[in-house]
Amino acid sequence: MTVKIAEVIVDVAAYPVDRPFDYLIPVEMQELIECGSRVRVPFGPRSVLGFVVSIKNETDLSIAKLKPITKLLDIEPVLTSEMLTLAKWLKHETICYEIDVLQAMLPSALRAKYEKFVSLQVNVEQLSFLLQPYFTKTKKVNYKIFEKDQLLHELKIAIKQNQVVIENVVKQQGNIKEVRKVKINDSREALQSIYENISNRAKKQKLLVEWMMNHVDEVFEPKEILDEVNCSDAVLHSVMELGAAEFIHEEVFRDVFTKDVKKTDFLDLTEEQAGALKQVINAMEQKVPETFLLHGITGSGKTEIYLQAIEHCLNDGKEAIVLVPEISLTPQMTERFRSRFGEQVAVMHSGLSVGEKYDEWRKIHEGRVKVVVGARSAVFAPFENVGILIIDEEHESTYKQEDTPRYHARDVAVWRSKYHQCPVILGSATPSLESFARAKKNVYKLLTLKNRAVSHSLLPEVQIVDMREELKNGNRSMFSEKLVEAIRVRLEKKEQMVLFLNRRGYSSFVMCRDCGTVVQCENCDISLTYHRSNEKLKCHYCGFEQWVPTTCPECQSDHIRYFGTGTQKVEEEIAKLFPEARVLRMDVDTTKTKGSHEQILEMFGDGKADILLGTQMIAKGLDFPNITLVGVLSADTSLHLPDFRSAEKTFQLLTQVSGRAGRHSLPGEVFIQTYTPEHYAIELAKVQQYEPFYEREMWTRHQAGYPPYYYLALIQISHEDVLMASEYAGKAADYLRSNLSFNVSIIGPTASSISRLQNRYRYQCLIKYKVEPNLIDTFIQLIKIYRSDWIKKGIQLSVDLNPSSI
Ligand code: ADP
Ligand code: ZN
Ligand code: ZN
Repeated sequence: MTVKIAEVIVDVAAYPVDRPFDYLIPVEMQELIECGSRVRVPFGPRSVLGFVVSIKNETDLSIAKLKPITKLLDIEPVLTSEMLTLAKWLKHETICYEIDVLQAMLPSALRAKYEKFVSLQVNVEQLSFLLQPYFTKTKKVNYKIFEKDQLLHELKIAIKQNQVVIENVVKQQGNIKEVRKVKINDSREALQSIYENISNRAKKQKLLVEWMMNHVDEVFEPKEILDEVNCSDAVLHSVMELGAAEFIHEEVFRDVFTKDVKKTDFLDLTEEQAGALKQVINAMEQKVPETFLLHGITGSGKTEIYLQAIEHCLNDGKEAIVLVPEISLTPQMTERFRSRFGEQVAVMHSGLSVGEKYDEWRKIHEGRVKVVVGARSAVFAPFENVGILIIDEEHESTYKQEDTPRYHARDVAVWRSKYHQCPVILGSATPSLESFARAKKNVYKLLTLKNRAVSHSLLPEVQIVDMREELKNGNRSMFSEKLVEAIRVRLEKKEQMVLFLNRRGYSSFVMCRDCGTVVQCENCDISLTYHRSNEKLKCHYCGFEQWVPTTCPECQSDHIRYFGTGTQKVEEEIAKLFPEARVLRMDVDTTKTKGSHEQILEMFGDGKADILLGTQMIAKGLDFPNITLVGVLSADTSLHLPDFRSAEKTFQLLTQVSGRAGRHSLPGEVFIQTYTPEHYAIELAKVQQYEPFYEREMWTRHQAGYPPYYYLALIQISHEDVLMASEYAGKAADYLRSNLSFNVSIIGPTASSISRLQNRYRYQCLIKYKVEPNLIDTFIQLIKIYRSDWIKKGIQLSVDLNPSSI
């Protein structure tokens, strides 16, 4: 028998081993092993996980010295050859370890502890004689038994013939989202007798059981009961001990997506929609890997185009990948797909438990579904015959992963489209500048939808409210008079409204309430960031810092202060202004538990509230016919982010959120409150015209030398000691300066916007370039220096090409 050698990428990051290593394939594994399978191999003194990336008969090393693979973890490979090729490309593209990419392609369950079972799919008689005895009494047998009895080869044949499948049961380490609830006894008689047996002195207990008698067999959260009956935990426990109720563990909304959805039919497309779809279908039929930029105003029916393109793709016997931003993976969105394609759809998002995600992945891996709708990482869905890839809201920055591997889902989608010779659709009402610029240069093909799909539905009318005027007129509240009036009218007419509080992460700035001036950096034209800890303002581009001024540098007013309000405060103010209004609040606090997001939207959809108040979360994807008013409480917050994309992000956000109003027959109205009404992002959001905004913003980017005219790379360096961090950031900058050409500008090192994170001080260098053939190699050399020397000293260094924020 010839020797067989496997090239294995080992799971040892943080070590200069980013290349395949040769291992001997033991004879008993030779028939079983395939590329894309995981193995255990000895590495130095350790045993590590690895991925087989190729199998060969020769090696340059001495065969005698090769170590053998110790264990084969998958008799069916978990990665396709496409994924192995993609990993090599992505590793280069994002400058990271190949192992990081390979791991990112797989569901995390495959990294967790799990037990493998072999599950029978057919009648036991259809199995080979060797396997039959194992399945006579049960349909599920522990995989270990076949390993022990050396029947893996037989098993593999059975898998190939779909007689059995391997199921990995994840040992959940406390990450099932469960809540403890109280289920009241299902017999009224039982409760009655408990009631009678309670001593009259235990008044609270009696009261509680009496209440329970009106809620036989119902389920409550403990706190709800305590509030209802106004009793203590101890009282509840004592009646539960008497058998009046029991604790149950309820997994929260586990089956949100598997509940039945009504089948819906394809809509007759408008002329615009039909024209766009035709071009996509042409590309599918001609097998052209074309990237389409579908630029359609909010409500223009982009989703309907996706659905019909997918239908075509499925009829062709191919599979479809749909990416949507995490935040808009609402039931509304996923149900639109499930209502057309039913059980053929897998849904992947971060709200699922590790086990659930793995189940969805397995459906794809085993070919049991044809469509995946998911967040960023679903771009790695292991379909083998992809017919179309769709990225909805393509401008969203969540498509870029912030951690290694720092890939952009759009780039991966385009790569896969070339591999499968199929089209990509990037859809948005407000495309990213980068994508629109590419469309203008015919790198992408532009498809435009100018009208709303529902006939007679028009874009809402947008009014800008100057909050400086409000203040002058003595109104210090966060609601302008106009907005208050508009809300009052809606409450009377029983129409619904959305109030949007523009808030983004940690960002905060100092603004004058009288003239709208925001304190900016002397050198950079970028808003200074407020640091509460030492009451200072800092520029995180150039490091400039100053004290918070006590009077406005423009108008000398002393109404100058830190800007930012929470949704909770807004809710309180609404309660004061409109005590009768029913408000649903949706923000990070109210959506912590699984399913709460869906629950809030469902309640709103059912008309159980008048006002939906929220942050970024409510800007997208909502399609409720009864919303006629959208109020943006403060357009300024995202405008003054210390980021060159702040105008673009503000325009996108305002357009998206405005698009929630008047989507059906009722006309919509939008109020945007701002202290800087003259800013072009706000003026152009008012007229809701993308192209003028695009032109204006491109001019700004050109002037300042930002993307899409220049590319950016961000080097970040951190250390527990601030001096070490700054010293090595300086070394990195020096290294880059002496190795890159003069056409490259290197800004920094400066302190990062979050200058200290998890006890590590952070510095960064920003690199701007147009064409620099030497760039990637220089980064790789820098990383080599870092890995061989700096890492020992506790330095951490990361390189982010095309960062989504800086
Ligand atoms: P977008 O994704 O562009 O914001 P949607 O696909 O959500 O737009 O469509 C907006 C609304 O128009 C939805 O309620 C949808 O059902 C409806 N719609 C879409 N296409 C059509 C059509 N051809 N005829 C009638 N209604 C349509
Ligand atoms: Zn500056
Ligand atoms: Zn001022």
